[in-house]
Amino acid sequence: MIYQRSSALFAEAQKVIPGGVNSPVRAFKAVGGDPIFVKEAKGAYLFDEDGNRLIDYINSWGPMILGHAYPPVVDAVVQKAKKGTSFGMPTEIEIKIAELAVAMVPNIDKIRFVNSGTEACMSAVRLARGYTGRDKIIKFAGCYHGHSDSFLIQAGSGAVTFGSPNSPGVTQGTAKDTLLARYNDLEHVESIVNSNKGEIACIIIEPVAGNMGCIPPVPGFLEGLRTLCDAHDILLIFDEVMTGFRLAQGGAQELLGVDADIVTFGKVIGGGLPVGAFAAREEIMNHLAPLGPVYQAGTLSGNPLAMAAGLAMLTELHTQPEIFKSIEEKTAYLHKGMAEVLTAKGIVHTINRLGSMISVHFAEDKVVDFDTAANGNNDTFKKFFHGMLERGIYIAPSAFETWFITDALSYEDLDETIKAVESIANHL
Ligand code: PMP
Repeated sequence: MIYQRSSALFAEAQKVIPGGVNSPVRAFKAVGGDPIFVKEAKGAYLFDEDGNRLIDYINSWGPMILGHAYPPVVDAVVQKAKKGTSFGMPTEIEIKIAELAVAMVPNIDKIRFVNSGTEACMSAVRLARGYTGRDKIIKFAGCYHGHSDSFLIQAGSGAVTFGSPNSPGVTQGTAKDTLLARYNDLEHVESIVNSNKGEIACIIIEPVAGNMGCIPPVPGFLEGLRTLCDAHDILLIFDEVMTGFRLAQGGAQELLGVDADIVTFGKVIGGGLPVGAFAAREEIMNHLAPLGPVYQAGTLSGNPLAMAAGLAMLTELHTQPEIFKSIEEKTAYLHKGMAEVLTAKGIVHTINRLGSMISVHFAEDKVVDFDTAANGNNDTFKKFFHGMLERGIYIAPSAFETWFITDALSYEDLDETIKAVESIANHL
């Protein structure tokens, strides 16, 4: 495939945009080479500026669960746009999407909409601190909760790729209140809680980690966190920015049967427009301004276009719950197919998957936390990534990312992908 125009655009972009991109992982720094500039997309396919068609396994990092330019979502946005694009005033559609989200997700009474997953997680932690009157938080190495200061302490995703887990600009004062635990290691969390008794406001976690590749929780881990939080009056925050409205209607809480105290959303909930949200039981949410003292706000929050896209998306998922089974089956098919060809070619690998989240690590041992994810062979991953790209398959440009499966993928697309993996395996 030819990527000439993409490379030319990248050169131009770098003159006026830092690194040529508006979010670091897009720059392909972990895998080398120039990023692809996309022109348009439809269903399971991206069409780039050079006229190539790529099968998309990133799907805008999760939101496009039903494929690109999904007609009900596009129509809803177009209709809404004709009636004004922002008011900064209450609108009825905000009630509709809030009612639907509260009906779909277990254990929440109220939800507040923001503009990104970062905002959602940042606000959730502020709420937890305001509610408990405590300062410290526990986060897990390799989990990413957006780029707000308190989370840039051994974060996953691009923050790992770029080798600056503790970003300059985050003050020591902020860093000291973020305590780091090992994912899937309950004893470690217990020991941190015991040495900071009465000081921890919340534990924030990706219930299925997606920012060090896909790492599901080991049995008992989330349940153990729940018990620990109850025993110490700590709020448990599930960051469901990736898992929300993807693993099930009610996200990881529903699929894994563990209740969180505060849940954050992003990605699918906005149908591809900039939306985040956080939600909880009434007694917690009532601490937010204007009802309570915890301040949180946004000029464009609840924006009508974003709400229209989100409502259309959630309505599709609510009225066709079989979608969740369908994407899980497609992901399981891909998992099996890739595992078979890689094993047959003798390539050391680990494929992790839960529901429609999947990733390939070129590592021998089980990948259960940040350290085991970091053991993967990055040179092999780079060759794998570029081999896939040459064959028209667009996967995440880093081993520290999850692939997101969309229902728009056909079994022919999956077979084409598995064939590509088989042919690449000869060169790994
Ligand atoms: N939490 C998780 C689990 C995420 O994966 C991300 C983004 N990938 C975020 C939060 C931040 O969301 P956003 O990029 O919309 O700010």
